[in-house]
Amino acid sequence: MTDKEINMDVQGQHNTIHWFRKGLRFHDNPSLLHALRTSRHVYPVFVLDIDFMKDFKIHCGDNQWRFVVQCLQDLDHRLRMYGLRLFVVRGNAEVFFKEYFRKWNITQLTHDIETEHYHRFRDAAVRKIAEDAGVEVVNYVAHTLYNVDKIIEYNGGTAPLTYRKFQKVLRDFGKPPQASETATEEHFASCSIPPEALRDEKYNMVTLEELGIRCENPTKFVGGETEGLRRVEKHLQNQGWITQFEKPKTEPTSLLPSTTGLSPYFSFGCLSVRHFYHRLDTIYAKAKDHSLPPVSLQGQLLWREFFYVAAAQTPNFVVMAGNPICLQIPWYENREHLRRWRNGETGFPWIDAIMAQLHKEGWIHHLARHAVACFLTRGDLWISWEEGQKVFEELLLDADYSVNAGNWMWLSGSAFYHQYTRIFCPVRFGKRTDPDGTFIRAYLPVLKDFPAQYIYEPWKAPLKVQEAAGCIVGRDYSFPMVDHEIVSQQNLELMREIREQQRQITLLTLEGREDGSSTSTDGGGRKRKRPIHPEGEDEVVKVVVTTAL
Ligand code: FAD
Repeated sequence: MTDKEINMDVQGQHNTIHWFRKGLRFHDNPSLLHALRTSRHVYPVFVLDIDFMKDFKIHCGDNQWRFVVQCLQDLDHRLRMYGLRLFVVRGNAEVFFKEYFRKWNITQLTHDIETEHYHRFRDAAVRKIAEDAGVEVVNYVAHTLYNVDKIIEYNGGTAPLTYRKFQKVLRDFGKPPQASETATEEHFASCSIPPEALRDEKYNMVTLEELGIRCENPTKFVGGETEGLRRVEKHLQNQGWITQFEKPKTEPTSLLPSTTGLSPYFSFGCLSVRHFYHRLDTIYAKAKDHSLPPVSLQGQLLWREFFYVAAAQTPNFVVMAGNPICLQIPWYENREHLRRWRNGETGFPWIDAIMAQLHKEGWIHHLARHAVACFLTRGDLWISWEEGQKVFEELLLDADYSVNAGNWMWLSGSAFYHQYTRIFCPVRFGKRTDPDGTFIRAYLPVLKDFPAQYIYEPWKAPLKVQEAAGCIVGRDYSFPMVDHEIVSQQNLELMREIREQQRQITLLTLEGREDGSSTSTDGGGRKRKRPIHPEGEDEVVKVVVTTAL
């Protein structure tokens, strides 16, 4: 039966709750579309369950709350344009559904498919309640490019654990499905909410005041589909940039994102990855030449997908214990070191400026994430990636269960990444793209008057220079908390031993052939090879010891 036939057949029959979780949008939202096409009454619901978040240790910082509230406001505003509204439920989803399936005479529940273990756990419980109440549950994949379960099934019940293996599997799948039609006025025309429910103030929009949140920083990322789509369109106008995008060539030190900065919108589903993927395809199709995965923009979306697939199938993906693909590393427990890293008080201006940007704006460049993650884990402090993951989860606007854990394992050398002899230098890394330290001056005003010569290593500046800059190291700014040259060597030796002892685990996520190259097409569609780091970074690292695995 075609979509149209379904539409004709059952239009107007259901009373539906559409449960918004991540897919906070009208475009490419097939479960919302289904609700609109098959229902007389549609009740759009968002459940805000703080206890659920506590139970599953989901940390959400103030900037992230602000982003979520803005997303919900945008959604509510757009729903109201078409005569509906958003019901923001405070409390437990199961309790709410039990009561409101009956109260609203619901016959259908629609929602997106989510892959995180806590979503699956809750969805199973809600499905049972729905079954008991005779409510039909309809859901579709829309948060990922593909149905991740199908990829796992096709791969023999396991996740492909390297990017190349993943790409090989995807070759058989072909391109991701097209984004579904956007829900428009026409789709909403035959649906309504009974007036009494429409007026019910109990489920009005949540506010930051109600959540006890005070965000005084102006934000560079306004939440919501409207803003997300605006940003996509703006990027897409810049076709040269889109086609030539290569992640390693983007700058971690630029004051505005040198990459798309779309991650918060993808994480909360204000933007569809399928929509973006296919818009990129259209541009690539018209171009003479374009970059390819892993470094291209589509390649970035595939990294996201890669981690979603790995997370969906790997037990305990977000922790070390019981995680079969993760090296079991005896990390140090040092609360004071962790505190200083978190607060940007390491005494390394490049690291501290990045952490200041993270606190202030909730977004940092991918390579900046590399710098601070490597510093916390295998590079300098030898503190567990789980601690870093928690901090990122709380402070990043784009905090994402699968992507965050996958990247932290990568950066800490616990899984996926095997060139562990490459350790980022907290002094030289930032200097490459920003020798004058503009980024540091912007985020660490205390250092703003240091001459460029010392901005990355203020402790080396003669006292006179420090006085002239109005900042005495040891008084106004910290001395470096470790000697990078010494600790990075020690850590490297530890890592080498651990990898030898746990070689079987390292092999699980190791590419069969790591020749460190990637290809891009030239004008005639011919492939040309150039050396890159497999993930798409090069040269920014300091090779402490050059021994390969
Ligand atoms: P672009 O380069 O413009 O890429 C477009 C999109 O592709 C991104 O929005 C994102 O959805 C996806 N993408 C890009 N790089 C990656 C990657 N390495 N892995 C998976 N997906 C990617 N990204 C998150 O979305 N949420 C997180 O919680 C998160 N935690 C991270 C933790 C660490 C330690 C590191 C090193 C990286 C983390 N990333 C995370 C990945 C990456 O840094 C961000 O996705 C990217 O910097 C976001 O900026 P952008 O939207 O401009 O990316």
